[in-house]
Amino acid sequence: MLEGACHCGSVKWTYDLPLESVTACNCTVCRRYGALWAYGYLGEGITVSGEINSYSRGRAIDFNFCSGCGCVCYYTLKTKDDQGRRKIGVNTRMISDPDKIASLPIDHFEGLDSFEDLPRDHRTVKDLWF
Ligand SMILES: [Zn+2]
Repeated sequence: MLEGACHCGSVKWTYDLPLESVTACNCTVCRRYGALWAYGYLGEGITVSGEINSYSRGRAIDFNFCSGCGCVCYYTLKTKDDQGRRKIGVNTRMISDPDKIASLPIDHFEGLDSFEDLPRDHRTVKDLWF
């Protein structure tokens, strides 16, 4: 299981699903946050806790950050899908043990114009830590 927390430790997430890659996105929000997302559905192998503030991007997405230290910990879709599930992306940059995901490949989502998944380019998480 992967565990993440903001810098002050107030906001936490757990991710207990197989994780084969994380996603970088170049949309106007993700570019600024520098987030590396791992996806799933809230309550299905993913838990979150702690006091957050949210930045709403339009009507669709809440970016949730620690009200104390400001770290962007996860995003959630405002609405559930037709199976009653709420999509979530946890920001793996909050991971407590970076070595656990350092060798995972980066998926590149072109979230600015085309909304396409781009081919992998051999970069891994450890290539983007710094
Ligand atoms: Zn915090």
